[in-house]
Amino acid sequence: MSDAALRLTVADGIARLVLDLPGEPVNKITRGVRGEIEAMLTRLQNDNAVRAVVLISGKPDTFIAGADIEEFVALTSAAAAEALVRDGQKLVSRFGEIGKPVVAAIHGACLGGGLESALACTYRVATDHPKTTLGLPEVQLGIIPAAGGCQRLPRLIGVRAALDIILAGKTVPASRAFRMSMVDELVHPSILETVAVAAARRLADGWKRPRRRQGVMGWLLEGNPIGRWVVFGAAGRQVTAKSGGHYPAPLAALDAVRHGLSQGIPAGLEREAVAFGRLAVGDVSRKLVQIFFATTSLKKDPGVPAPAPEPRAVSRLAVIGAGFMGAAIAGVAVAQGHVDARVRDTDLARVAKGLEAARRILQDRLKRRRITKYEFPREDGLLSGGTDWAGFGDTDLVIEAVFEDLAVKHKVFAEIEAQVGSECVVASNTSTIPITRIAQGAKHPERVIGMHFFSPVDRMPLLEVIAGEQTAPWAVVTAVAFGRRIGKTVIVVRDRPGFWVNRVLAPYIAEAGRLIAEGVSVEHIDKVAVRFGFPVGPVTLMDEVGIDVVHKASAVMHQAFGDRLAPLDGIARMVTEGRLGRKSGRGFYRYADGKKQGPDPESAKLFGGWLGARPSAEVVFDRLVYALLNEAAMALDEGVVRSPRDGDIAAIFGFGFPPFRGGPLRYADDLGAARVVETLDRLKQEHGNRFEAAPSLRRMAKTGGTFYGDARR
Ligand code: NAD
Repeated sequence: MSDAALRLTVADGIARLVLDLPGEPVNKITRGVRGEIEAMLTRLQNDNAVRAVVLISGKPDTFIAGADIEEFVALTSAAAAEALVRDGQKLVSRFGEIGKPVVAAIHGACLGGGLESALACTYRVATDHPKTTLGLPEVQLGIIPAAGGCQRLPRLIGVRAALDIILAGKTVPASRAFRMSMVDELVHPSILETVAVAAARRLADGWKRPRRRQGVMGWLLEGNPIGRWVVFGAAGRQVTAKSGGHYPAPLAALDAVRHGLSQGIPAGLEREAVAFGRLAVGDVSRKLVQIFFATTSLKKDPGVPAPAPEPRAVSRLAVIGAGFMGAAIAGVAVAQGHVDARVRDTDLARVAKGLEAARRILQDRLKRRRITKYEFPREDGLLSGGTDWAGFGDTDLVIEAVFEDLAVKHKVFAEIEAQVGSECVVASNTSTIPITRIAQGAKHPERVIGMHFFSPVDRMPLLEVIAGEQTAPWAVVTAVAFGRRIGKTVIVVRDRPGFWVNRVLAPYIAEAGRLIAEGVSVEHIDKVAVRFGFPVGPVTLMDEVGIDVVHKASAVMHQAFGDRLAPLDGIARMVTEGRLGRKSGRGFYRYADGKKQGPDPESAKLFGGWLGARPSAEVVFDRLVYALLNEAAMALDEGVVRSPRDGDIAAIFGFGFPPFRGGPLRYADDLGAARVVETLDRLKQEHGNRFEAAPSLRRMAKTGGTFYGDARR
């Protein structure tokens, strides 16, 4: 077998260059490949028998997935990063400089450096297969497209469309890329090569790629300097608002695009290289790359220790309870998992309402062009519902989402068990009841499990799978695999009150309540959290979740963990007064027409305080964030999550812990256990025992250990 990544055949003046990295599942641009492509392009340039080149992949589902992340992670200085990227730029530019047309024949993922290579080619043909996607995801890793992506994409598809992709790190399906002119021809996979070779031949004969017109609006906004100034101004404001100033990459990309358009491609490439060098070794990028690696390894984790059993196939799902959660779970299961989903409720009106809500998820995808109008009826046909038990005998997985009441759940579980076969996994979506208690009295407790979805189910990416004391590994791996199939990031958690997400949030929310009771303004509290990088502050979060839900959950946490998590009277008073948050139009804030208005001082008064106290942002910050860090440490100590990786990923995907800080456990590691304990000790002295540091933090403060370091040992 050859070690070469490139295979060359020449027929009738057209060189067919197949990229196929030996021993790798996907093509990526490594140091070795760069040298090989470089040498090959020079050879083709000098070969008089070659009139045009077709670049195609030998992998089944990828064109080129991007640059080699491992190579970029190993960089230790900005200068080294800059040098690496300049090499990449030189190589990519070569595709357009050999004096002969090069056609990229794209099937499968064409991302990052892969797309940048394709952009430098003369012409692009892509397959209309769902696996064919094109994008520049760099900013999601805290870096920018720096092999000419910030230069060539805006010139090819227009500034606005290019910024839309670059600044958000977007990946688009081939059909969309075609509509945007990123791709010149869209074809069925069976004729990709033929069409690419034909295009190469036409180009070699002097045919020119037709340019698409940009239209009047395009010219007004992009064809002149004033229009461009408006476009860049708007994009800059949007990026700053969205990133909260925490993510430097999008602004750097914007700068590289703007500079290149006004000063020319070489100057633009220079900007890309310098910015890449600075960002690649920066802390934000390092954190985002860690998260990327963590989610990648999580995707391969079966959820139980080796040897893990095979997950059972799920082709039929049943959801009991067609309410708010049940309907959404059914909708997402159909949309993402293409599984046959049947919902059951106690009366037909509720079933109909639930089916309508599930259908809205499909309609939303149709509206956003995620599916075609032909796919919609096919997906819709997978949804069904009723009040009976029809079809339950063949169900592979049942998810229960009835009222949060143990007696109701027990009754429903007994009914389910009487209907389903012995291979069926039976899951509960409970948010507060221990799975082990739900499984009590079950004939087969080994297949009873928790699948805790978050609301809104179609938007929230996390799923907690909870193994009860008797849950069997086959049930765990089946629930994990199914969760993943329907697009969720899945963590397996221990059956402890609050599981992971609500457990870690509990003291943070409670502390926000205490601050309100002391008279601190809700806006001030929220602002401190948002400045730290949370998408919303804890007070807004309570309003969104619902004050009644917060009240119920805090009672459970109080019972389990004692006074440390005692609920505040103010919350109970708000519930009595019907101030339930956004859903009732008033909570800590007021809402009108679905929009958040100013704070409602009447609510804060229910906490007794409202003294208008305004402690410094540092004081508020310490109390909120250290309470959360400490709880994460305690829960990890108790084995609620299996590793710091799982805990951090779940905090980021479950409640928006700032990704650029890496998650609560990573953040505590960065601060250092000694500093965390010192702060907690001070808080304990000032505010009481609830700030007693977790045993692991105390231990690590003495030994200099870290969560991640200890986990590896
Ligand atoms: P909901 O009140 O909207 O829906 C519950 C549905 O269950 C109702 O339609 C009801 O008619 C039905 N139901 C009750 N008893 C039934 C029975 N015996 N057979 C069939 N159907 C029955 O409640 P929800 O907000 O969807 O919550 C459902 C579950 O999900 C609860 O356990 C809750 O704790 C959990 N949960 C809720 C959220 C949330 O944000 N609402 C988040 C995570 C988990």
